[in-house]
Amino acid sequence: MSLTRRDLTRRDFGRLAAASAAFATVPRAIAQAAAPKKIRYAIIGLGRISLQHFMPGTKMSAMSEVTAFVSGHPDKAKQHAAEYNIPDSSIYTYENFDRIRDNPNVDAVYIALPNSMHAEYTIRSAQAGKHVLCEKPMATSVADSEAMIAACKKANRKLMIAYRCQLEPTTLRAREFIRNGTIGAVQAIESANGFNIGPDWRTNGKLAGGGPLMDVGIYSLNACRFMLGEEPTVIAANASTIDHDGRFNDVEENVSWTMKFPSGVLASCNTTYGANMEGYYRIHGSKGTLNVEPAFGYEGIHLTGRVRGAQGPPTVIDLLEQEKDPAQFAREADHFSGCILNNTPVGPSGEEGLRDMRHIQTIYKAAGIKF
Ligand code: NAD
Repeated sequence: MSLTRRDLTRRDFGRLAAASAAFATVPRAIAQAAAPKKIRYAIIGLGRISLQHFMPGTKMSAMSEVTAFVSGHPDKAKQHAAEYNIPDSSIYTYENFDRIRDNPNVDAVYIALPNSMHAEYTIRSAQAGKHVLCEKPMATSVADSEAMIAACKKANRKLMIAYRCQLEPTTLRAREFIRNGTIGAVQAIESANGFNIGPDWRTNGKLAGGGPLMDVGIYSLNACRFMLGEEPTVIAANASTIDHDGRFNDVEENVSWTMKFPSGVLASCNTTYGANMEGYYRIHGSKGTLNVEPAFGYEGIHLTGRVRGAQGPPTVIDLLEQEKDPAQFAREADHFSGCILNNTPVGPSGEEGLRDMRHIQTIYKAAGIKF
């Protein structure tokens, strides 16, 4: 790819420097009125994805800033408050969270809690008048997902599910190569994503709602659907647990599933909490193959491919994501902020999250796992 986020940022810095020189001569009141509007986020759950990725992402975003915290650990919240200029009055606990409705400095929330808490905090946030950017998986049941959508609709607030890959340029190029016929008629997709898990709420069935399928297998499911723009109509699945070492008393260790799409494309996917898989997907078309590997990381998404013409050597595709973490999160935040500011439909909507939840329910059922 020719343009990198760094290039853009450098250029933007150049423009900003020129603009700020001009700004100095503008009377203060006018200057304030001309300042670009930012969406102000309350972060709900100060864990890894919030602290290490999403919040740093907002620092390089154009339309998003962090203005409040919701945490069960006041010390942790205070520790990070200074970095984001957050006053004590904008630090909430889970108990007094609903008071956030009276905070005019919060437009939206980013929910990064264990999966089973997503529904409750989405609904409470919408009722408090805030837009919601919720981490994947959307919830731990289809009913909760539907309730989240209904609550946001009722409150006239926007709901986005944080499928950052759907906004990432290398991923979008792969989809373009499928849509414009570069690799011909797609026949099959293979995908896998997993890791070898240690102690984590992710193996607690109540908090996680399921095992690796809910957490990381959802990336493969979503990539297949996103690449094809179709919904699977036939699903078969198996699950297994190999390591009986106490980690998998509540949730499965492995899930393997196949999907048949209306076009006839067959997809086969694997997910695990027992092995470190580099997440990938491979798309086989009548004229060529695309391989996205790594496919789901916070940086370094790599698209390679070979396309065969009637004659001569194959054309080689090799596109590497140029941006570094947390650029994907800056884009994700700004996409949602832009949708709020311009009142436009969000890309990965609540309905998109719900479709994944319905398929996850079908996969678990096919694998004989209660969901
Ligand atoms: P984490 O364990 O690092 O953080 C979870 C946060 O929830 C912590 O701040 C913890 O204090 C808080 N919490 C509140 N109640 C809790 C309870 N009862 N048990 C445990 N923690 C509790 O998890 P994480 O990796 O930041 O994941 C949070 C969410 O983000 C999950 O839904 C996960 O699927 C999602 N996630 C998304 C991505 C992505 O790339 N989009 C990556 C990682 C995680």
